[in-house]
Amino acid sequence: MSPQPVTSPRVALLGVCYDGSSSYLRGPAGAPPIIREALWSEAGNPWTELGLDLSAAALDDEGDLAPAPDEDPEQVRLFIEAAVKRIAESGRRPLLLGGDHSITYPILRGFRPFHPRLSILHFDAHGDLWDEFEGDRYSHACPFARIMEEGLTDQLVQVGIRTMNGHQREQARRFGVKVIEMKDWRDGTKLEFDTPLYVSFDLDVIEPGLAPGISHREAGGFSVRQALAIVQSLTAPVVGADFVEFNPAADRTGVTAAVSAKLVKELAARMLVENR
Ligand code: MN
Ligand code: MN
Repeated sequence: MSPQPVTSPRVALLGVCYDGSSSYLRGPAGAPPIIREALWSEAGNPWTELGLDLSAAALDDEGDLAPAPDEDPEQVRLFIEAAVKRIAESGRRPLLLGGDHSITYPILRGFRPFHPRLSILHFDAHGDLWDEFEGDRYSHACPFARIMEEGLTDQLVQVGIRTMNGHQREQARRFGVKVIEMKDWRDGTKLEFDTPLYVSFDLDVIEPGLAPGISHREAGGFSVRQALAIVQSLTAPVVGADFVEFNPAADRTGVTAAVSAKLVKELAARMLVENR
C-alpha cells in the first residue's frame, strides 16, 4: 500500500435543518437526521463504490444547525456562513446536508474566501437563477443569481436542467453560466475543470419516480446511476459540496432516503478519494 499523502483531505459533514426559503412545500428541514440514519443503516454496509470504508474514513460529523422555525432568514444565512467558515478554517472540506437550496448562497459566502480559484458544478432540474421569486431575493429559486452577482465562483456549470424559461435563460446569458440542459445530456460527457470544484446537488435532478421525496417533481431527469457516474468521473478536487431539497414529508416509502444516502455516500467518497 502506498503511504497516505500528508495533504489527504478530511471532510466535515454538517446538516442544515432549514426550509424557510422554500417557495412551495416545507419539509427539507427534516432531511439531515434521516439521511444520516439511512447512511449508517444496517440495511447496507459503509463501503463506497470507490473502495473506501466510510465508517473508518477521514469524515467528521459536525451535527446539525437547527434554527428555530420562526428564525429570521437573514440570521440563518449568517449562522450558515459562519459555520462553513469555521470548517474551512480547520482545513477540512465541508459537506452540507440541506435543507432547501437557499443555503448554497451563504455556504459559498463562507467558503469562497478560502478558494481564490473555484468552479461550481450544479445538479438540478431548475436553474435557481431567478433575480427574485415571489418578492424574495433569497428564495431557493435564487441562490445562483446571488452567487454569480457576488463573484463567489469563477465558473458555474449546470447539469440536468429541464425547466428553463425566458427570464432564467437571460440570467444564464448575463452571468455566463454554462447550462447543459437535460435534453442535451449525453452519457460519457467528461466534465473537466481547471480549478478546485464545489458540487451543489439538488435531489430533484433525479427522475422523480426514483426519488419522489422532493418538493418540485419535474419528470425527465437523471437516473441515480447517471448522477453517480458523473460524480465518480470528476477529476478536479472536490473541495466542498452540498446535498439539498430532500423532502422526507413527501417520501412515503422511504426510498428517497435510501437514494439520498447513496448519493451522499459517493459524493463524500469523491471528496475523500481524489481521481488522479
Ligand atoms: Mn435547486
Ligand atoms: Mn430543483
